[in-house]
Amino acid sequence: MGKNSLTPGEQLSELISEVVHSENPESGFLKNMDNLLVADGEFLEMQKKSIIFYTTRRLIHGASYALEKAMVHYMDSQNAIPVIKDYLTNNYSFSLTEEQANRLHALVYSCVDASHKDLSTAQRNKALEQFRRLEITTCYMCGVEIDFDSVDNKNSASVEHLFPSEYGGDSRFENLALSCKDCNKHKDDHMHPSDFHFEKISTKHDYGHKKFSKQLLVSKQVVAMWLKEGCECTICGKPASAAGMLSVFQKEPADSWHFLNIGVQCSAHNEG
Ligand SMILES: [Zn+2]
Ligand SMILES: [Zn+2]
Repeated sequence: MGKNSLTPGEQLSELISEVVHSENPESGFLKNMDNLLVADGEFLEMQKKSIIFYTTRRLIHGASYALEKAMVHYMDSQNAIPVIKDYLTNNYSFSLTEEQANRLHALVYSCVDASHKDLSTAQRNKALEQFRRLEITTCYMCGVEIDFDSVDNKNSASVEHLFPSEYGGDSRFENLALSCKDCNKHKDDHMHPSDFHFEKISTKHDYGHKKFSKQLLVSKQVVAMWLKEGCECTICGKPASAAGMLSVFQKEPADSWHFLNIGVQCSAHNEG
């Protein structure tokens, strides 16, 4: 399993994390937030990751736009790599070795390319067949039994890109998962739990915000919690695909309902 077993998008975000150096600060606003949340560095880590995924998003969108504009002028794709190279060289000043720069250009190009490739009906059907052959019949995020026969129910079958196709998650089988239509919609094009505006949840708490409760978490945020915990019960490790829908709980009951203090639990661990 070399680097090539990762999708172009994952490879790109790995490369970005190598070149965008952001040491965890010893002091300052973010460090204070981490202390306030008693997060023990976890908030800083999430913050760092969100910057990496945000940078990935911007590089791909920017390059994609530059390329589209160039296509209008040149009407052919021969200029694609130089155009992307030019865009990246002029807009981002990471300090890159020549080898890293070449890899960055090629990866951004692969990501832009992957973002234009939707699953064909044949690919989708083949993946669904493969899931059934592997006896995978439930949504990996919420655990609902998938309805393979309809297309417009909440629990209709969706073939989900684990790393989103929009950002260079290609359609190799290892990057595909069976999900219900609803979860696929909520996960949207987020690349990682840190990519769901986690800081908005991190800084919400119940002390002084009496109205904040787990009932107020919107579906998209609940999906972010599931993904943060690997879609497994935080306590026993049973996956949602076998345990059914996981509910949120406070890991440390004395602490507030912030992103990092929220775990997910199976029904056996849900005291109700
Ligand atoms: Zn689901
Ligand atoms: Zn459990």
